[in-house]
Amino acid sequence: MTTVGHSLAGLSIAVLALPRGRSLLWYLLVGHLFILFANLPDLPLPGWGHANYQVSHSIFVTMLLASTLGLLMLIPGFDNRVGFRVLLLWSLAWLSHMVLDAMYNHGLGIGVFWPFSDAHLVLPLPWFETLSWPPVTEHNRNVFATELAFFGALLVLSLLLRRNRRREI
Ligand SMILES: [Zn+2]
Repeated sequence: MTTVGHSLAGLSIAVLALPRGRSLLWYLLVGHLFILFANLPDLPLPGWGHANYQVSHSIFVTMLLASTLGLLMLIPGFDNRVGFRVLLLWSLAWLSHMVLDAMYNHGLGIGVFWPFSDAHLVLPLPWFETLSWPPVTEHNRNVFATELAFFGALLVLSLLLRRNRRREI
């Protein structure tokens, strides 16, 4: 999936699960981090991203690295009740990346079980295509538009569900 789909999926998780009653600044900061974590496996860092796909898209590597987020709970004054929930949700946004990447219609899926298995997670949906080169083409515009429509609708649905939810989870 492109960053359009990953970002909107990450925001949908945030909308559905973040507690109410925080400041706008808190929502902006925490919400941006949902987008960051949802896109993290594709970030072009040394030894990471598409340069080292099996590592950056492994659920085991993800869980190992995501567990280090728990170190934030050692910060004095850290709100453990809300903070633990946010840390779990960031990890969920991070793991959502691999599920979305498995949805490409090429049907190859992705090897998310490295280093323990070569098995691939394959969840193809016919309307999700990969980008092509060069970047500015009608095909790529359609890829972005399809993801915007699908995951934008998911975000709108999430906002409606949050709005209609009577009590905080
Ligand atoms: Zn990816």
